[in-house]
Amino acid sequence: MIGSMLKGKCPRCRKANIFCEPNPYVFNKMFLMPEHCDSCGLKFNKEPGFFYGSMYVGYGLSVAYLVAFYVAMVVLLQDFEVETYLLLSIISLLVLTPVIFKLSRSIWLSMFEKYDPKAIENWKEKTKGKEIDNPCIEA
Ligand SMILES: [Zn+2]
Repeated sequence: MIGSMLKGKCPRCRKANIFCEPNPYVFNKMFLMPEHCDSCGLKFNKEPGFFYGSMYVGYGLSVAYLVAFYVAMVVLLQDFEVETYLLLSIISLLVLTPVIFKLSRSIWLSMFEKYDPKAIENWKEKTKGKEIDNPCIEA
């Protein structure tokens, strides 16, 4: 489960990507997600504004990162100025923001969907092998 979250895979089938562009540093495609999962048909954007909730997850991840960064500096450097910590932590957090953004959406979606090993089979049965239009939409 954690592996599929980190890789940005669908939480129900753990096969297809939940983002149209998996690379978090392609900024113009950052918000694009398929309408539904290619493999199991799970609708990603369950309702308008569904992913606003992922901001809570992103906030938690950011705070956890800053605490871990502080602990790492205390352990590794022992003696440092607080300004050094602020500067380094803010710069590294800015660099990591796109990664945290995608990870928090992935975690948020996983909080509402359980893994279903038969999901792909069920979707194939339901669509009878037909290609379903699946545009990338801004979510
Ligand atoms: Zn799926």
